[in-house]
Amino acid sequence: MNNLKLTGRKPGENRSVIEVGGIRVGEEFVVIAGPCSVETEDQTVRTAIAVKAAGAKMLRGGAFKPRTSPYAFQGLGLKGLKILDKAKRETGLPIVTEVVDTRDVSWVGEYADILQIGARNMQNFSLLREAGKSGKPILLKRGMYSTLEEWLNCAEYILAEGNDQVILCERGIRTFETYTRNTLDLSMIPAVKAESHLPIMVDPSHGTGIKFMIEPMSLAAIAAGADGLEIEVHIDPPSALSDKDQQLRPEEFAAMMKRIFELREFIAEKNDEAAEATKRGELDKGKGPSGSRDVFADATD
Ligand code: PEP
Ligand code: MN
Repeated sequence: MNNLKLTGRKPGENRSVIEVGGIRVGEEFVVIAGPCSVETEDQTVRTAIAVKAAGAKMLRGGAFKPRTSPYAFQGLGLKGLKILDKAKRETGLPIVTEVVDTRDVSWVGEYADILQIGARNMQNFSLLREAGKSGKPILLKRGMYSTLEEWLNCAEYILAEGNDQVILCERGIRTFETYTRNTLDLSMIPAVKAESHLPIMVDPSHGTGIKFMIEPMSLAAIAAGADGLEIEVHIDPPSALSDKDQQLRPEEFAAMMKRIFELREFIAEKNDEAAEATKRGELDKGKGPSGSRDVFADATD
């Protein structure tokens, strides 16, 4: 890909690691979890405590919601950010929250550990430049009609302002399929890894919009080498003010995290076996555990 001066992968270059409150995205596997929207202090803090107990490393929650309808719940704004701050103080989890307006970037950045730029704003170039100037880590979601090249060029806008702390997040694209909310394009995981040094996370909540698909798509994303996941969790999904059909209950999230842990353990074991076999020269002689080398991303934290 041409013109990716800063986001493109150069031969031999290490992959980027984005450090957020002691967590190293790109090096360790990171699950960001929490409600679609911050609604009340009780809802947010209880969800934060539950997702932390299940193994999430960061808390998500929207205080500014980009909604299809202007009459739908738009988020609590500053009040929501203060609730997120409370949840952070209670749990120690870093906060991931969306910013939708250039005028808000600097003050939202005072509450956020990672500023999220959502799918609908991926190509909002003034917002990207402002996010770049903020110097904050940015989670840049893929636009629902965007190609990989367009997406990486948007990341380039942020890096061009001197901010290299960008994490990409695949969240599904619009296709002719209507069964799912979006078509989760997991092929972007190896594609991003081939073309860029930036970490790539996956959001199966918006990617599918359907609860029962979140776990299988999460496991598939891990097998394909994703650096992390962003998952919507709500203490009482039927009462949620946004995205009620795709938010997991804390106990469903905890059960999924157990499966994620098991898969990652399995992958780590296979990678260890492959490394051992390589050391012994067995793979070269065709005796090693076939297929395990280079198939899975390194699953060790
Ligand atoms: C979100 O994560 O809150 C969100 C609105 O997602 P997206 O921008 O991917 O639709
Ligand atoms: Mn949502």
